[in-house]
Amino acid sequence: MVERTDILVVGAGVSGLASALCLLGRGRSVRVLDAGRVGGGSSHGNCGTLTPSHAGPLHAPGMVAQALRWMFTPDAPFYVRPRLDPALWGWMLRFAARCNPRDWDASARARAAILNASRAAFPEWIARYRLDCQYSEPGADCVFRDPAQLDAYVRHLPALAALGIESRVIDGREYLAADPALREGLAGAVHFPGDAQLRPDRYVVELARAVTGAGGVIETGCEVTAAETRDDGMRVSTSLGERHARDIVLATGAWSPLLGRSLGLRWLRRAMQPGKGYSITYARPSLVPRRPLTLFERRVCVTVWEDGYRLGSTMEFSGHDATLNRRRLDALERGAAEYLREPVGPAKREEWYGWRPLSWDDLPIIGRAPGHRHLWLATGHGMLGVSMSTATGRLLAELVTGETPHLDPVPYSPERFA
Ligand SMILES: Cc1cc2nc3c(=O)[nH]c(=O)nc-3n(C[C@H](O)[C@H](O)[C@H](O)COP(=O)(O)OP(=O)(O)OC[C@H]3O[C@@H](n4cnc5c(N)ncnc54)[C@H](O)[C@@H]3O)c2cc1C
Repeated sequence: MVERTDILVVGAGVSGLASALCLLGRGRSVRVLDAGRVGGGSSHGNCGTLTPSHAGPLHAPGMVAQALRWMFTPDAPFYVRPRLDPALWGWMLRFAARCNPRDWDASARARAAILNASRAAFPEWIARYRLDCQYSEPGADCVFRDPAQLDAYVRHLPALAALGIESRVIDGREYLAADPALREGLAGAVHFPGDAQLRPDRYVVELARAVTGAGGVIETGCEVTAAETRDDGMRVSTSLGERHARDIVLATGAWSPLLGRSLGLRWLRRAMQPGKGYSITYARPSLVPRRPLTLFERRVCVTVWEDGYRLGSTMEFSGHDATLNRRRLDALERGAAEYLREPVGPAKREEWYGWRPLSWDDLPIIGRAPGHRHLWLATGHGMLGVSMSTATGRLLAELVTGETPHLDPVPYSPERFA
């Protein structure tokens, strides 16, 4: 039997589920298909911080030189597995060409717009859908041991302030007096009061509950393999048989270029790369930082929840490699030990990797696929898919239903890659 629905959302991560929820809220019938389980992709073991403070894109001036230095530094947070892969090197060249003040500014503006809108919507989503995901608003801090790195970072705070992102610089001694979890030798910190946090695995499960509660259907273990445009919409081939819908939303994160090949979106292979990251989750240590932290020189993120504690980081370009790299995992613990008195928890609960869906301009890809009337994209969220999820869902739903969008959709449009 061919299942029919208004909209098929492919991918049950934060991007797909937030989109599904917003489409359901606009009266559309929605079916979400996932090859694995709900939240089994990058949305599972990430750090769960909601960070407008990270509006600055990765392609910062000076990043190419920094990345080259990191390539030759053991334990560095950045790594490219050397290999002949024209799509990867094309992506790298486009990324490198954007490491200049003008392109940094353009991406930062568009990132700030969607991050600020998303952050503003979180309290309302948490209340309206009763999302039980340990959401809290402690702000977040970036801490430094090297005074020169702190000075350089502080110099970019006026650019963030111009984008509506508040911050406060805190002297190392003052910070240590207020937070005994940190080790001596701290140069200082930057506090971002507007940031927040949640437990991402809970968030994604709760979004799924809200989707089914609103009448949506979620099918897991259902891999989409192809789709064909018909007069009245799309016919979709899956591992569980055919599905039929008027529109399809591709929210397949870092898998998007793989599925894109069979959907006639070959350009996705040039636009996106998987940026592999790792995390380790522990039982909560007895002495924990009072706010989520970025340990700046090591680029390790530390998040504490009621029932857990997580270290996460690393940007590894190794394609869709599905192995856990012991050296990268150990580097998280070694990095944390430089800053924290109790860097790890009493028991390890999970070691994890995820593929961040990275576009070379570090902007999400949201909108109608060029040349395809019934095919939409909500992907490419890179390091900030959770932070951007509520505004992504709303913008995607507004575009599909023809409403006036609450954000200027142009910077996120897939047309920029066509
Ligand atoms: C170490 C690490 C830390 C991070 N920390 C943060 C953070 O603190 N804050 C933040 O905002 N972001 C963070 N991120 C980024 C964030 O995790 C991602 O941007 C986000 O989860 C992407 O969500 P998504 O829904 O687009 O993709 P995913 O969650 O990856 O979901 C894609 C889904 O598509 C499914 N799928 C793929 N192919 C098919 C197919 N053919 N058919 C059917 N289904 C398919 C997959 O099974 C998967 O469930 C972090 C990422 C990493 C790796």
